[in-house]
Amino acid sequence: MSELVIVSREGWHARPPTLVEPMANPVPYVVIHHSYIPGACATPQECVAAMQAMQDLHQNVNGWNDIGYHFAVGGDGNAYEARGWSAVGAHAPKYNNISIGICVIGDWRDELPPQQQLDAVHNLIGHGVNLGMIREDYQLLGHRQVRDTECPGDRLFAEVQTWEHFAEKATRITEGEASRGEDNKLFFFKRGP
Ligand SMILES: [Zn+2]
Repeated sequence: MSELVIVSREGWHARPPTLVEPMANPVPYVVIHHSYIPGACATPQECVAAMQAMQDLHQNVNGWNDIGYHFAVGGDGNAYEARGWSAVGAHAPKYNNISIGICVIGDWRDELPPQQQLDAVHNLIGHGVNLGMIREDYQLLGHRQVRDTECPGDRLFAEVQTWEHFAEKATRITEGEASRGEDNKLFFFKRGP
């Protein structure tokens, strides 16, 4: 497996968040997403542009505090810091303050991401466990398991189902314990990834 590279917010020229809500670690869940749009990126330049496009959409169009995910991984094999390990996310209502949301940049309905991109997901999760940011007994979920969405794409979801820690059903919390999050306000008229 390749070595994990995490590109900092400075590295992709992120705008600052408008608000940061602290999240307690270690979290019990990891939730996998695809970006759908923007599509796959193959080089650091393309992946930086994808990060900026997602932050523009989430901040300027959706009105969120920041790009919604905690991290994203690119086809360049790099991981990109989004909200990071310890800020509440906006990627999956009810799971925003108890999970790390990872976006696999690209549209993975029919195709599998390149191996180095999948390796980056595994390395990032392992790193989070080692840092004490993700529980050792974490449960791995696809976004579609916690919300009405096709995300993270049929092909990627089939892959995620084969990974260690994949959970058919989330059992680490009971409903109601977690906050709904800023993305929930769009729940009724937005069904994006
Ligand atoms: Zn998603």
